[in-house]
Amino acid sequence: MKIFNSLKEALEYQTHCPLCKKQLSADSKTKINKDYDNKFSFSYSSKSNEGILIDKTTEEITFTKIVSDSIKRKSLNINGQFWTSLYIECESCQKYSYNIQLKFNTQDLHLFEISLNSESITFEENDLITEIRNGYFSGETWLITYAGNDTKTTKLPLLKINLDNPAETLNRIKKLAIFS
Ligand SMILES: [Zn+2]
Repeated sequence: MKIFNSLKEALEYQTHCPLCKKQLSADSKTKINKDYDNKFSFSYSSKSNEGILIDKTTEEITFTKIVSDSIKRKSLNINGQFWTSLYIECESCQKYSYNIQLKFNTQDLHLFEISLNSESITFEENDLITEIRNGYFSGETWLITYAGNDTKTTKLPLLKINLDNPAETLNRIKKLAIFS
C-alpha cells in the first residue's frame, strides 16, 4: 500500500487526468463556504454538525462547528482515532479518480497516516463501459464492465495501472481477465 509523507504529496500523486489531461480537483463538492477555500472539512458523524478542518498547505487541523448542511462523509470515529477519505477526481470527463485515506489522532489533532486507498479509470467504447478499479487496501484489481443494465465484475490480484498508457493497461487487464 502506498503511504504518503504529507497531504501535499497525496494531493500531488496525480495532478492531471490521464485521459483528457485536464487538472484534477480534490473534493470540490465539499466546499462549505468561501472561508474554507484552502481547507478540507470533515464532519464527525452523520448526526452532528461538528467536524474537523485541515489546511491543505500547512496540514493544521482545527475543530469546527460546521453550520451549513455539510457533506456527510463516511467516516469512522473510534478510540481517539478518526478515519476518513478524500476523492481526487477529474471533473471534466469523470473517468479518472483516486481516493486517499486519512487517519487522525483526535487527541492531539495529528494526521498520522495518509495512504492511497483506491484508484479508478473508466473507458468507453461504443455502448460498453469498462472500469478498472484498484483497491490498494484489499490488494485487488476489479475489471467492471457495464453494458446496458448488465454489470460484470472480474476480480484479479492487484495489477499496475499504467497512467502514461491507459489503453495498454486496459488491453493487458482484459487479457488477464479472460484466463481468470
Ligand atoms: Zn478527464
